[in-house]
Amino acid sequence: MKVIYADNNATTQVAPEVLEEMLPYFHDLYGNPSSMHSFGGQVAGKLKEARERVAGLIGATPDEILFTSCGTESDNTAIRAAIASQPDKKHIVTTRVEHPAVKNLCEHLGGHGYRVTFLSVDRQGRSDFEHLYRALSHDTAIVSVMWANNETGVMFPVDEIAQVVREKGIVFHTDAVQAVGKIPIDMEQVPVDMLSLSGHKIHAAKGVGALYVRKGTKFSPFLIGGHQERGRRGGTENVASIIGLGKACELASQHLGEENERVKYLRDKLENGILKRIPNAMVNGDRDHRLPNTTSISFEYVEGEAILLMMNEFGICASSGSACTSGSLEPSHVLRAMGVPFTAAHGSIRFSLSIYNTEEEVDFIIEKLPPIIERLRELSPFWDESKAAAAVCS
Ligand code: PLP
Repeated sequence: MKVIYADNNATTQVAPEVLEEMLPYFHDLYGNPSSMHSFGGQVAGKLKEARERVAGLIGATPDEILFTSCGTESDNTAIRAAIASQPDKKHIVTTRVEHPAVKNLCEHLGGHGYRVTFLSVDRQGRSDFEHLYRALSHDTAIVSVMWANNETGVMFPVDEIAQVVREKGIVFHTDAVQAVGKIPIDMEQVPVDMLSLSGHKIHAAKGVGALYVRKGTKFSPFLIGGHQERGRRGGTENVASIIGLGKACELASQHLGEENERVKYLRDKLENGILKRIPNAMVNGDRDHRLPNTTSISFEYVEGEAILLMMNEFGICASSGSACTSGSLEPSHVLRAMGVPFTAAHGSIRFSLSIYNTEEEVDFIIEKLPPIIERLRELSPFWDESKAAAAVCS
């Protein structure tokens, strides 16, 4: 069965060009980039090129790029570096809709002597600016606000937030793991101090990421060891994956225009096709300020997991907006923070496309999904009740 992969915010396929560039570094060119001999030296040269390519995608300089093992490590490094380098400050500001890589760390720090302000969002997933301004104080060590949400694709106005935070002299970090490669990002234009990105979201390998650290930002290493990454992150580099990440960033720069427009066209076609054919379906989040590849759609009175299982029968891969915890399906913290009604949050599905998706695949999903939802609603006692209520009202 052909796989229709519409779960690219979870992970992406490694691009063939990326794989090709990585392969020699597993076997033939296995030198350590820190070695004095030229066998290692040629690897160091290739790492340098990768650093330049990553920097090129986000308008940074190569020495502002630090390679890490993943987006989670980048997020943890940024926040821990900021608090470790300002031990007198005990306040952190973030949002209620961050990825667990930020949210769970902040909650953890909240239990270890830090005061954490979690900014709320509205029904569209937008941030409350007033709350942010009021929250900042002399005690604030770092503000961490994601560039784009992984579940809904909703983008925060990072440039405006970064400006305000900088005026107060506070360190600003953004988790741009979902944004990098999908929208133009330029560190020369946006006063962000630290930015996280991850390889496997942009057609590079899993287990590699990067942290942008603006020159002059207070920093204290998270992983302490050898002199790698100019003493900012110990550990022998994941050479092949870093080289792949560099190539993926180069490809992403080329795709920012036309290719991403095509992805947006496919996302819109998918979304509109679904909304047209399925009653009681709604898009979660601000449709005007979203990543071009993501849509989160709630189908009232059905369970997301059941939809996923039935789509899986046709080879369609997507994600649901709920997590199975202790036997009960809990809507995600993102949809809860947005106040999505219970009956809708339970039946939410995220489709996230990539440059490898085709129009035929989108048409296939639009054809297969309506009968799936119809069947599940026939089995749902709540759907019957809602129809009865609608009949009484009309
Ligand atoms: N931040 C966001 C917004 C993400 O979507 C993810 C992964 O889904 C991460 C951080 C963590 O990245 P990684 O899987 O590379 O640790």
